[in-house]
Amino acid sequence: MPRTCRIPPVRVAAGVKFCFQCSTAKPHAHFATDRKAWDALRPMCRCCDASRVRAYRAKKAETPVADRIAQSRRHWQEIKAGVEQRLTAT
Ligand SMILES: [Zn+2]
Repeated sequence: MPRTCRIPPVRVAAGVKFCFQCSTAKPHAHFATDRKAWDALRPMCRCCDASRVRAYRAKKAETPVADRIAQSRRHWQEIKAGVEQRLTAT
């Protein structure tokens, strides 16, 4: 099944793609490749992708590793408890 694509608000020429993050039409060279995408290009330009990754890493660095592990453990315990509850209910 072909993947869906968003229609850009402005008409873009061939070889140019609209970045919905910065709302700018840029040449294909400004987009990283993504083999799974309908046009084999990332949905956002390299600049936006880089700033998104920077923001993600900065947010991730805010919480210490031990806290993230504890959070993950709590999350899985909640899931396990939910599954066990459902199994005993039936
Ligand atoms: Zn962009």
